[in-house]
Amino acid sequence: MENIALEDVTKLMSRGINSLVHDALRVSAGNPGFARFLLKSVLWQKRAAGRRARFEKKGLHVPAFMICSITGRCNLRCKGCYAHREFGGVPDELPASRWLSLWQEARDLGVSFILVAGGEPFVRLNVVDAIRDVPEIIFPVFTNGLLLRDETLARLSGVRNLIPVISLEGFQHETDDRRGEGVYKRLEETIDRLAANKSFFGVSLTVTEANANIVTSDEFIGEVVAAGCRLFFFVEYVPVQEGTDDLVLSDPLRTMLRKRVAELRESYPALFVAFPGDEEEMMPRGRPWVCSCQPRG
Ligand code: SF4
Repeated sequence: MENIALEDVTKLMSRGINSLVHDALRVSAGNPGFARFLLKSVLWQKRAAGRRARFEKKGLHVPAFMICSITGRCNLRCKGCYAHREFGGVPDELPASRWLSLWQEARDLGVSFILVAGGEPFVRLNVVDAIRDVPEIIFPVFTNGLLLRDETLARLSGVRNLIPVISLEGFQHETDDRRGEGVYKRLEETIDRLAANKSFFGVSLTVTEANANIVTSDEFIGEVVAAGCRLFFFVEYVPVQEGTDDLVLSDPLRTMLRKRVAELRESYPALFVAFPGDEEEMMPRGRPWVCSCQPRG
């Protein structure tokens, strides 16, 4: 990858994004509102790719993806979370107006996707609200899901470029063990609410040695797809917390994960993205990203 010219990298990224948007169209067949948004998005993404290519020719590399951590605050206290320790006490969060202007600048440069993380992004509803004003960019918002109540969904209704991505660790036992008792049940309610609302939404799964077989099983994936989820992020566990090395995927499970993701893509009407791995196609110059809900210590 290091030897590829910047122009080639830009083309490669644009191809990855195009296939992602086309795949999203394929799996949104039962959701006409989102499918209409995606059709518009295909044109926007084409324009964005053109802008990136023009900047590239002038020597400015514009990434197709950005990650914005909009807060360190969170309503949960999960095991192994770094957000509170590193950012929780930070009082000087950027105001919503600044986030909006940053996102507009990103759009004008040709950025296609902005991954919004925290802490818990929905503690800053006024920032999340600004997503509606940048419809050209798709915003997966990584959330613990507990603040997605009826009134929040009503407020964000029609903001098709916002894709909630809810963190799960597996079924009830795995999720409650890390996130707290009762969380899984409440997330089931959130997922039902999103499905009833006809939202396009996803889940983010931190894959460890302990849960790899569970989160890739037909039983788990089938249940979450049946609940209406159309997007899965598999994020390999990164050990930052001391004494958690045993959670890192062993080579056999890492191989199994790659194989299963390929099989799942063929078997279910949903998008499956794995990190690290897929960023080589979609964002080859970026480092593997870590969402707020990935345990880092
Ligand atoms: S892991 Fe995510 S949901 Fe849990 S406390 Fe940390 S930021 Fe909040």
